[in-house]
Amino acid sequence: MMPYWTDAFGNPASLGHFYGWEAQAAVQQARETIAAAINAQPDEIVFTSGATEANNLAIKGVAEAYLQRGRHLITVMTEHRAVLEPCAYLETLGFKVTYLPVQADGRLELTQLSTAIRADTILVSVMAANNEIGVLQPLAEIGYICRSHQVLFHTDAAQALGKIPLDVEALSVDLMSLTAHKLYGPKGIGALYVRRRQPRVQLAPQLHGGGQEQGRRAGTLYTPQVVGFSVAVQLSLERLESETVQLQQLRDRLWQQLQTLSGVVLNGHPHHRLAGNLNITIADVDGAALLLVLQPTVALSSGSACSQHQPSHVLLALGHSAEQAKASLRFGLGRSNTITQVDHVAQVLIEAVRSLRQNSVYS
Ligand SMILES: *Cc1c(COP(=O)(O)O)cnc(C)c1O
Repeated sequence: MMPYWTDAFGNPASLGHFYGWEAQAAVQQARETIAAAINAQPDEIVFTSGATEANNLAIKGVAEAYLQRGRHLITVMTEHRAVLEPCAYLETLGFKVTYLPVQADGRLELTQLSTAIRADTILVSVMAANNEIGVLQPLAEIGYICRSHQVLFHTDAAQALGKIPLDVEALSVDLMSLTAHKLYGPKGIGALYVRRRQPRVQLAPQLHGGGQEQGRRAGTLYTPQVVGFSVAVQLSLERLESETVQLQQLRDRLWQQLQTLSGVVLNGHPHHRLAGNLNITIADVDGAALLLVLQPTVALSSGSACSQHQPSHVLLALGHSAEQAKASLRFGLGRSNTITQVDHVAQVLIEAVRSLRQNSVYS
């Protein structure tokens, strides 16, 4: 990224001089890398500020462009707020949205989806991997159902990119939201994949101004972030298989040790989940009190970074009570974690739970 803050400072849309050409070439290279990572074409990638903007562009952009076809959208109760809130916003404009429930393991039941599709349905939005419980949705099956009903399929793949293989052709995905910072890339950059062939997706831009990104998203591209995004994607793809094995081993080691505690349950499907995710509920312990004890050495959170103080809507959708949802912890393991760290976390956590339980009114 460094050269694009200094010597190669050109605007990638300024094609009248070599500073611009240099930046434009870097952006083009990045666009090709990111497109190839999901088996798309470079002209199907629209750079955005992240997955939040990509989700907004996909959902509002499709809703506006297909107004004449219908005003019904389908999504799922466990989606990220960056999907749920654009949908809620569309409801205030007169659109209808169906929020599908999930099964106890966090996965969508496919007949529920088929049944929910109506003649006026224009978009189905289902995330690839959940940010709290790591659960993977059956994208290929969902894509097949959408295709056979001629309804567009959007997926928020913020958590999935670089963690599981993604192929927009094999999955019949029409729009896909991506972000760099979930795979060790810079913050403030992401992309929306927008299918241009079979079918050609219409999209109403949500940012108006310059003609950048083929009129789909106005604004000067942030070249260093774009370059950083593509390098992060490249590195993640190269390491995808080995890292998945490594993370899964660490995650399973952690889970094995935590199961020596009584009253601990795993949230979300045991196998259809991200390798680095562990989400558990610990009975009779206040999650907030636990976090406080762990804070000096363990970087852990209960729900998502975006809604700290309410019980997780994801865990509620799984059938948990608010009480249970608050007694839950989400562990996110990453590239740099070690066995020593995992063992430390398990030890500190087990001690903290035992001591909290001893002093609690429950025991
Ligand atoms: C992090 C995340 C987002 C938001 O992405 P930003 O790039 O931070 O805007 C959206 N959806 C999911 C599933 C996420 O995990």
